Amino acid sequence: MDCPVCGGDCVTPAHEVLAALPTRFLPCPSCRMQVLDKRVPLSVLDYPEPCSCKKRFIDGVFAHMYVIMREEGNLTKDDPLIAVGSPLVHPGFAMVRPPFLPEKSLLLQSGKVTPKTARRIVSEVPEVKGVVKTSPGIPGLASHEPNTVAGSHTLLAGCDVRADLIPIGKNTLVVYKQQSVIHIEFPRAGYPKIRSVAARVGNPPVPLFVDACAGPGTLGLAAAGLGVPHVVFNDAWYAAAYWSAVNIGVNRALFGIDDVRILAQYRDMIPRPVGRVPQKIAETRGRQVLEVFQGDFRNLGTIIPQGADPVTVLDVFGKQDREAVAALLREVQHQIGGSVFVP
Ligand SMILES: [Zn+2]
Ligand SMILES: [Zn+2]
Repeated sequence: MDCPVCGGDCVTPAHEVLAALPTRFLPCPSCRMQVLDKRVPLSVLDYPEPCSCKKRFIDGVFAHMYVIMREEGNLTKDDPLIAVGSPLVHPGFAMVRPPFLPEKSLLLQSGKVTPKTARRIVSEVPEVKGVVKTSPGIPGLASHEPNTVAGSHTLLAGCDVRADLIPIGKNTLVVYKQQSVIHIEFPRAGYPKIRSVAARVGNPPVPLFVDACAGPGTLGLAAAGLGVPHVVFNDAWYAAAYWSAVNIGVNRALFGIDDVRILAQYRDMIPRPVGRVPQKIAETRGRQVLEVFQGDFRNLGTIIPQGADPVTVLDVFGKQDREAVAALLREVQHQIGGSVFVP
């Protein structure tokens, strides 16, 4: 599919991403690994060029970005290398050693970068696919309280669509997102949320699973990959609902589906970023039925049939407030029945 953000080829089927993975971040015999101290300024404003294989060790890429940010006055001579920002590689997964980066494999998130610098970085540093200026707070809806104002970072140059890899059993999900509008979630070791979904799905799998605050769709995709015949994805935030739909298509080889129909255009959703009454964004045809809605999970009663008794995962923010979470669980259970759990 064409990338909904840049129109390019950022989004590819999971099997293509996974087939390229074993060598994607490995050096060739000619690649050089020069480790730099990230806690101090770069002593000389210089950087290594990419290898003839077009890869470069991540520290060299950071040095290149540092030099540009110094030249543009975004950093001072006292700023350490790490002040460049946070690197997010595409695709992201738990790496055992620092990567050698191929072309367009890195997204830079930085609080200090300016629009002109961002354009220079994307055009002059071949490994960078996009530059995002971070703002305080997290992108998307940070709370489930009604009338929460959504936050967002700003894409300054290039494209900020990238994927994370999530293992489910013997398979791997490829979960794409537009990073400036979806919050970063670093999975904890052992993927406890996926394990908790697998335990609730059971074997044989439950007939209906609801991912009530789906984000980019990870837990609903996991339930579908575990064989649940009917999965409902829902999120109030436009980007979460849309990328859930994209990610069904990306990972379709894991599911018993013939096709995915996405019923909304990404750009058309931006003016109405927060849904209340669930609206259908996507549906599949085939042996498994996967549906995506944009709406408030407190209104799921309008789309879940009475007596369907779904298993519903409620991956809410602010889990430390146990009383508030318990009240939400009761509210959703009252709306749609079945069982509701926090992963
Ligand atoms: Zn793109
Ligand atoms: Zn090389």
